[in-house]
Parts: sequence; structure tokens; C-alpha cells
Amino acid sequence: MAANILSVQGITKLFGNLYALDNVSLDVVGQKVSILIGPNGSGKTTLINIISGLYKPDSGKVLFEGEDVTGYPPFKLYRLGMGRTFQIPALFWKLTVLENLLVAEKKNPGESFFRPLQIVGFQSWRDFFAPWTSLSSIVRKLLRERSVRSFFKSLLPAFANSWSTFFTPTWAESEKRTIEKASRILELLGLSSLWDQPSHVLSGGQMKLVEIGRALMSDAKLLLLDEPVSGVNPTLAHEIFSRILKLRDELGLTFFIVEHRLDIALKYVDEMFVMALGKVIASGPPVEVMNNKKVIEAYLGG
Ligand code: ADP
Ligand code: MG
Repeated sequence: MAANILSVQGITKLFGNLYALDNVSLDVVGQKVSILIGPNGSGKTTLINIISGLYKPDSGKVLFEGEDVTGYPPFKLYRLGMGRTFQIPALFWKLTVLENLLVAEKKNPGESFFRPLQIVGFQSWRDFFAPWTSLSSIVRKLLRERSVRSFFKSLLPAFANSWSTFFTPTWAESEKRTIEKASRILELLGLSSLWDQPSHVLSGGQMKLVEIGRALMSDAKLLLLDEPVSGVNPTLAHEIFSRILKLRDELGLTFFIVEHRLDIALKYVDEMFVMALGKVIASGPPVEVMNNKKVIEAYLGG
């Protein structure tokens, strides 16, 4: 069974008397790149806003990994593994590229008042016995070598070592893991060499990549991207889509992308949805969809 990571079922959204979305249903298959296209005003952004929890639908359901998440607030969806980027990147401009990723880490103990004060302590029985087992090995050494001097010399470092682990604050370990994770993501996105640059000096395309990186810090499984290559030069736009494929293949991520620039996007996508006037009018593999009469009419007529 091809698992649908996201299922939109009969969503309707009214703005006053206007049906921005009129009974929209679509299924997004996991670990694929799906694209949503449609003329201006057809309801694409409204749909992404409903999926990501910014708007509540008037009727219909959104299922994420089989769970009914209709009306969940964005932070809750983010915790469940749904990340999104915006058409206009919203980075922390004065922070560096790496810092922009670090602030997105979900369970940062440094953000709570008490947790940073906790020490690692005994995490297992092995930790509990560590000081004593090291003592016994030193005693054995003493018996073997019969050198009291070397006994005392090795006593202190052995104890210091095991007890310093005990007193390491929890945030130190977790901060190290977070930095390692961010570095890995920067590498996947080809941004490693820019890690210490303030984000305001980046090009438009690089900013979009940093936004994707930030969404990835949340361990997102599904990424909703709103026009990831708008305003980006063709070379970098292709680069962004190549990175998206790499993330799909290496991390098993799913992408649901709204994008106008079909000249660039088409060759990278697995599935395509077309909207017009608040309805889905076609879906399937890109080659099929692009030859669909209704789609051609919607574009040429619209
Ligand atoms: P698209 O992203 O496909 O261009 P939108 O989802 O932004 O389309 O808009 C769909 C329709 O809903 C448009 O007619 C738009 O004017 C209307 N609309 C979108 N957002 C709002 C809003 N917050 N208030 C009123 N009307 C809106
Ligand atoms: Mg839009």
C-alpha cells in the first residue's frame, strides 16, 4: 500500500460569499515530491494555510499520517513533523546561517529555566558503578606493580574523570547534538561554507535554502513549500530542486510544493495537482496532467 502521508478530504473555505476552496480533496504520497499549480486566485495559498493550521476550514478534514489534525494550531503540527516555508523568506537577519538553524531546534533545554541547571547524573547503572570499577582497576594495578606512588598518581584523575561526567550540565550534551544536526543539514543543502555568514548577506535562493534547513531542524517529515524558487535565478533554482530530490532520497522526506515556474519545476516532480477556481481539476504524473484538456483551458482561458 502506498502510504499517504497527507490526505485532504472535502475541504471548503469561504471568505464572505467567495468559495476560496470548494470541496477540495487530494492525497499526498509519502517520500515523493508533489507540486500544486493553478492560476492566480485559484486557492493554492489558502489550501497550504489550512493544511499548516493557519486557517480553519469551514468543512472537511486534514489527515496527517492517518491522524485527524483538522484545526490543529501550527505549533502542534510542527511538533508532529509538518514544516513549512513562506513565499517571502523570514529569517533572523542578524543571526548567522548556523544560528538560524539552531533557533529552530524543538527540544532545547536552554530555553527552560530549570532544565539547564540539571546535571547529567547517573543515567544508568554503569554510570553508578563507573567510579568504583575504575577504583578496583587501580587497586589491581597497585597489587600488580606494588608502587604506592603510581597508585596515588592515578587515583585522582580516575575519579575526576568519572565525576566530571556526572556534573556536566544537560544542555552541554544536547547543544552539541543540535550543532551536529545543523551541520549535517547545511551540508545536505550545500550551505556549509556559509555557516558563519549573517543571513542578510545571502542571495535570495540561499535564503530559501536556509528556510528549508530551518524546517528540517524540526525533524519534519512533510515539508510544505510556498514558491521555493520564485525570484531565484535559474541556475540556483535548479540547484534548489536538485537539493529537494536529494532530501527526498537521503532522508525520505515528502514535499508538497506550490510553484509557478513550471519551466524549472516540472522535471523534478513525481505528482502534480492543478487547481482552478477553488477546485482540483486534475492530478497525476506531470506528463499526463500537462496534456489534460481542462488544464490547458484553465491556463489559456484564465
Ligand atoms: P492563490 O494562492 O492560488 O493565488 P489564494 O488562496 O491566495 O489563491 O486565494 C484564493 C481566493 O481567495 C482569491 O480570490 C483571494 O482573493 C481570496 N482570499 C484569499 N485569502 C483571503 C482572505 N484572507 N480574505 C478574503 N479573501 C481571501
Ligand atoms: Mg498564492
